[in-house]
Amino acid sequence: MTDLRVAVITGANRGIGKEILKSLASDGFVVIGTSRSQDGLGHINETINDIGAKGCGLEYDVNDKDSLPSLNSTIKDKFGPVSVLINNAGITKDNLLIRMNENEWNDVLDTNLNSIFRLSKEFVKDMMKLRYGRIINIGSVVGLTGNAGQTNYSATKSGILGFTKSLAKEVGSRNITVNSVSPGFIDTDMTNQLKDDQKNALIQSIPLGRMGTATELAKTVSFLASEEASYITGENINVNGGLYM
Ligand code: NAP
Repeated sequence: MTDLRVAVITGANRGIGKEILKSLASDGFVVIGTSRSQDGLGHINETINDIGAKGCGLEYDVNDKDSLPSLNSTIKDKFGPVSVLINNAGITKDNLLIRMNENEWNDVLDTNLNSIFRLSKEFVKDMMKLRYGRIINIGSVVGLTGNAGQTNYSATKSGILGFTKSLAKEVGSRNITVNSVSPGFIDTDMTNQLKDDQKNALIQSIPLGRMGTATELAKTVSFLASEEASYITGENINVNGGLYM
């Protein structure tokens, strides 16, 4: 099974992506964490060394179309074909629609959604040859509920749900599953941008009464990436403490 055990995680230098990398490494995967900065690569390689995992950090900005084939061939040459792709990298650029400019709209669409089209297209080809694969896209609760000030972000996260189901239908016959995991309110740099009163108000509306951890999110991803999740595809799993049911 060694040739089925190479996982790529985008935006793995911090937050949820870093915990997914650690969790997949502990499941025995060779882990390739990508980051758009040298500093981020340093963090990924440090994490990999600390936990004694096999794999490496590779520089890649998810908005870079041109270097995607060379990213893939570098991974293949070093470790073999990728069988698990975790589309995790994401950004917010919040604003009310009437104030949102084209850049705020396009940057979020490019990073959160267009990148998933490109990365999935690149890596699914080898999964089709392997006749095995797992693609897991990180969505958000706001892709299901909407959120004022996040028309751009929630459009990408709703888009991920439709993308996931459609690709799942295209590649199911090749034994490739495509799923999404939609986090609620997880304690990372992304939510640390919120003010304390905003956080407290949000926590009040969560039945489990607290924010989630990146590890809790990562363990759900680990399950979907495992061979045990072989009959789940086109599905979205909410990890949100009951914020949206
Ligand atoms: P985070 O702490 O802000 O980390 C985001 C990661 O994405 C970083 O590694 C960042 O790299 C990377 N990234 C952003 N733009 C990139 C680009 N163009 N190329 C490559 N990497 C890029 O956020 P997080 O909370 O871990 O979020 C991870 C995923 O979960 C995102 O898709 C987010 O939308 C989703 N999510 C999070 C929450 C939450 O409560 N935290 C809730 C719902 C959904 P840099 O370090 O270089 O910036």
